[in-house]
Amino acid sequence: MTIKHTHRLLALLSLMLAWQGVAAQDLIAEQAPIDRRLKAVDSVTIQRLIDREDNDLSEELYEDAWNTTMAHPYRGIEMPDSFKIDLRDFCMPTPSRNITSHFGYRPAFRRQHRGIDIKVYTGDTIRAAFDGKVRVSTFQGSGYGHFVVIRHPNGLETLYGHLSKRLVEPNAEVKAGDVIGLGGNTGRSYGSHLHFETRLLSEAIDPKLLFDFPNQDVTGDFYVYRRGANRASQAQAVAAQSGSKGKGRDVARNAGHYYKVKKGDTIYSIAKKLGINQKQLIGNNSLGRKPKIRPGQILRY
Ligand SMILES: [Zn+2]
Repeated sequence: MTIKHTHRLLALLSLMLAWQGVAAQDLIAEQAPIDRRLKAVDSVTIQRLIDREDNDLSEELYEDAWNTTMAHPYRGIEMPDSFKIDLRDFCMPTPSRNITSHFGYRPAFRRQHRGIDIKVYTGDTIRAAFDGKVRVSTFQGSGYGHFVVIRHPNGLETLYGHLSKRLVEPNAEVKAGDVIGLGGNTGRSYGSHLHFETRLLSEAIDPKLLFDFPNQDVTGDFYVYRRGANRASQAQAVAAQSGSKGKGRDVARNAGHYYKVKKGDTIYSIAKKLGINQKQLIGNNSLGRKPKIRPGQILRY
């Protein structure tokens, strides 16, 4: 722990103890109780408070770009090689568990689907997925209809499309779970649903890698974005467009499959289950020489 962190820790600790009605002077006067109290305060809670103190990672990622009219204004900004996204303290945008359309290339429309569609009915409550600041709240008749984009301190931007009503304005601060609009069928939409996108700068990430709608949960505490690792949709597009059942399909298979680590899994057991070799699994996920995996982690294969 650095000195900076130690100072923060003590500041936070005294704050927490102050909440509990203990005067700060008592702490300085008596050294012994500090240790006991340190143990009494959940260390995980303290670590999380420290983590969040200067946690607006979006600032370095998006620089000064703040556009309140365009959904996707980041073409010029380079993607980081990797970026760890904190998914804790989320709220599912809707209690619906029903995904009606997935992320990726849709042959019927001959275009990429940059989000997922979740069944909601007109008037259903739609909530902010994380704390954040509303960047866009507008109407786009030919596309998203009424839609809202929120930028979050964890670096993500989330987009909520086809709303019947928007209930927030640009630059408004929101908390995870705040109602931001109502479900609908506006814009290019056939039947009421929520079109939900999760983006890191200019890149759309398959929301399924972050949010598990059927189970109403996130896929883990963190998701690590790696540049180039999210090319599944492109590979699928190549496969679909080529129409061949040979090479194209292999590309899609290699690039586009994900496995969520379950309790008791090992690299060996997963590789066996998926019918691939361990080295491939380790390499695809940059797990290094002493690979460690944990339940909830998403592996690509
Ligand atoms: Zn959609």
